[in-house]
Amino acid sequence: MKPLPSTTQLPRWKKNNKDQRKCITTAEGIPITHPTSSITVGEHGPIVLYDSNLIESLAHFNRERIPERVVHAKGSAAFGYFEVTNDITKYTTSKVFEMGKKTPIAVRFSRVAGSLGSADTDLDPRGFAIKFYTEEGNWDLVGNNTPIFFVKDPILFPQFIHSQKPNPVTNLREWNQFWDFLSLRQESVHQVMFLFSDRGIPKSYRHMHGYGSHTFSLVDKNQKLIYCKFHYKTDQGIKNLTPAEAQQIAGEDPNYYGRDLYDAIENKDYPSWTFYVQLMTPQEAKQKSYDPFDITKVWPHSEHPLIKVGKLVLNKNPSNYFAEVEQLAFSPSNITPGIWISPDRFLQGRLFSYADAHRYRLGANYAQLPINCPFKINTYERDGAANIINQGGTPNYYPNTFRETPECPYNYPLPQHIEGNVGHYDTGKTENNYHQANIFYNKVLDATARGRLEDNLLSTIKKITCEKVKNNVLQMFSNVDQTFGDNLKEKLRKSIKHEGF
Ligand code: NDP
Repeated sequence: MKPLPSTTQLPRWKKNNKDQRKCITTAEGIPITHPTSSITVGEHGPIVLYDSNLIESLAHFNRERIPERVVHAKGSAAFGYFEVTNDITKYTTSKVFEMGKKTPIAVRFSRVAGSLGSADTDLDPRGFAIKFYTEEGNWDLVGNNTPIFFVKDPILFPQFIHSQKPNPVTNLREWNQFWDFLSLRQESVHQVMFLFSDRGIPKSYRHMHGYGSHTFSLVDKNQKLIYCKFHYKTDQGIKNLTPAEAQQIAGEDPNYYGRDLYDAIENKDYPSWTFYVQLMTPQEAKQKSYDPFDITKVWPHSEHPLIKVGKLVLNKNPSNYFAEVEQLAFSPSNITPGIWISPDRFLQGRLFSYADAHRYRLGANYAQLPINCPFKINTYERDGAANIINQGGTPNYYPNTFRETPECPYNYPLPQHIEGNVGHYDTGKTENNYHQANIFYNKVLDATARGRLEDNLLSTIKKITCEKVKNNVLQMFSNVDQTFGDNLKEKLRKSIKHEGF
């Protein structure tokens, strides 16, 4: 059998790099005469301080790691293009959506809570972030494999993530804290049910849908705005792993998704997704029985059908993981003309936090790294650590007599009239958190899928050792549907009797 491409990278590299007669140098290009021995006093004596090659080598080694992302740490990326096949230019001036346009893209798939060393197939939502390299700058659509999220106020995001991360003492996944937070913030229930349903553990990154998740806006040539959601549906078909399969793979090959993606692309089996939008006018938004800017809710397809726009295709693997994946920096604040944000407050929190994470991880000039660098920039930012494009003698202040600053043809943000009392509004209490979750349980899942959802939930609920937390969790699912809650209680009772939990 032909070996998988992921197992033959080194021989392939050797074949393509025949001329290797160059001598090793320092980072400053100075030849290293003895790369395999330090400079010592005699054969058995101590090392001398002037062995600057040894010192540089050890010092650089100590600095090889940058902070891992607090969320979405474990991931894989690939490159390709987005091609527009259907015309939506009456809604947006975005160059990305010009009919027939092909825009280069980078896509990074990831786990959410798992750290860098975690297994790809563990239970977790999956990130699905797309960077469109457009002539108007980078547009980052930083979504997940679910159209909804656990909480809707960004102030709760750090608390939510803390609850999903290891216990601060044991450093182990802690089901009491995992479920405690979720059951005290029951707006999470819709997303929790997606997570524990069959699609919670995809067979690979290629076999899952992606969603922009938030409500965004499209802006037309008259500056008229229409709200939109982005969906990208897998052309490979939805395929999932059972929890047992996922667990086995986690032990055998923790990098299973990354390997699958790499091999598929090297074998020219290019994965693709069909890209859709859902649209909602501002007038419609005012009349909804639910908040269309609430990320724990979907827009029903029957009211806002999917409109086909084009295709995402991945046909190139990274040429270097650190340079092109670890340093690939997405931020929802990267929005290009013709596309805009919305009153979705969770999105507004992310507009700040993503770019801030990159400033911390990669430095103030992270946007200058080749993988993040837009086609052309005309910024007045200067200096800072690791600056590569400092623009020579170009003046860096405005207004300026010497450097022309032509008027920008775009006008953002759009004029918006907003009124209301400034204050705290708890998003957990203002909306019906159970209605769409009930539809998911009763109408989307069939009886066998409902049974598997309950079994998957049970496998972790039974590990809760605090009775109060366990009761809150069971009550949360009863709030969605009484039968659902009763089934879980009954299954839990039987499992305690059987397994003695
Ligand atoms: P529809 O009844 O028109 O379609 C059901 C949707 O659910 C499809 O998008 C389907 O994806 C998706 N789906 C099926 N099984 C699962 C699963 N195990 N996990 C996650 N998604 C799944 O949907 P409506 O718009 O009327 O909404 C009804 C309910 O469907 C919602 O309350 C929500 O829970 C769920 N849903 C809705 C989505 C939306 O954007 N409107 C998106 C995803 C889910 P596929 O087409 O691949 O079968």
